[in-house]
Amino acid sequence: MAGLYFHIPFCKRACTYCDFHFSTTGEQEPLLAAMERELIARARELGDAPVSTIYFGGGTPSLLETERIASIMQLTRDLFRVQRDAEVTLEANPDDIAADRLEAWKAAGITRLSLGTQSFREDRLRWMGRAHDADQALRSIELIAKAGFASWTIDLIYGLPGMSITEWEEQLSIALDHGMPHLSAYCLTVEPRTALAHQVKKRIVAMPGDEAQSAQFDHLMVRMERAGLEHYEISNFGRPGHHARHNSSYWEGVSYLGIGPSAHSYDGLNRRWNVANNARYTKAVTGGEPYWEEERLTPAQRTNERLLTGLRTSKGVELAQLELDPLRLQPKAVERWTASGHLLQADGRLVLTKAGRHFADRIASDLFVDDDDR
Ligand code: SF4
Repeated sequence: MAGLYFHIPFCKRACTYCDFHFSTTGEQEPLLAAMERELIARARELGDAPVSTIYFGGGTPSLLETERIASIMQLTRDLFRVQRDAEVTLEANPDDIAADRLEAWKAAGITRLSLGTQSFREDRLRWMGRAHDADQALRSIELIAKAGFASWTIDLIYGLPGMSITEWEEQLSIALDHGMPHLSAYCLTVEPRTALAHQVKKRIVAMPGDEAQSAQFDHLMVRMERAGLEHYEISNFGRPGHHARHNSSYWEGVSYLGIGPSAHSYDGLNRRWNVANNARYTKAVTGGEPYWEEERLTPAQRTNERLLTGLRTSKGVELAQLELDPLRLQPKAVERWTASGHLLQADGRLVLTKAGRHFADRIASDLFVDDDDR
């Protein structure tokens, strides 16, 4: 089994908090043609493995003409053994949603829509620099709920300056009232070199403290559980049958091909990443020059990646699947987090408790094994 990821690096405008690779200028078509060249050139890398998930991310894939998504899908089907029940996700922004476009995406083979809502409040959307307004956020969720996709999901952001539990509850209620089967909820973080980082540095914006963000995360967990959505990964909640298969395969170490500028690929041993620059990517692919770097991961790196991603999931990390044993190599850290009630060992797995979910990345890095090969 394998996955395919397409990075569509265009956005209408730059959201203040975003550090993904995207551009608000530049021609689309030469870059898309280069992505198709990359896809053709690398098709053999997956061998005969059936493709079970395809993901159009970005950037903003919904910016493309629907026919362009359809033609990339057709080329993918021509080149790979795409499973009949493959999960095919498209990230879309509310300002790109219309009934006829939803139908066209379905006809192209998209089975799952991921809507970048972030908030249903006008003041918050403006503050984040989003291209859509609150009406579009509401209207798009109504259209998607009726469109008949196998699944759909929305993104919401919490931990915003001045956000109260009441505001957060309002946001979650709007989504749940529309029958949302899956939610990705992200706590606002200040990433270097973003407009938000600049605003924080200049004291134009004061970020909330850990306590407020932590209380909103607790509220999220309780609210989703009450609504019947399983907390299967730190930032992801889904009704049974609606867990994201593409993202789950990243967390389980499945091979995937990443196509487009800044896209990453993994074949079980090597990690490869494409240049994060649209012009350089297009020129290099078109000219037959290298456009990527890669490294072979050491056993310690592979173990630590599995710890970092696996501990974020409700299934935790299966110890037998790790090449190196953190119980033997980091016994004190395991003991400390277990004694404090943040970590459990059960059925050969290491799993975070509810309290531990607040510190997932910190616990994982404490458990990291030393890399003697570097
Ligand atoms: S639309 Fe998405 S990818 Fe584009 S700038 Fe905003 S958050 Fe980043």
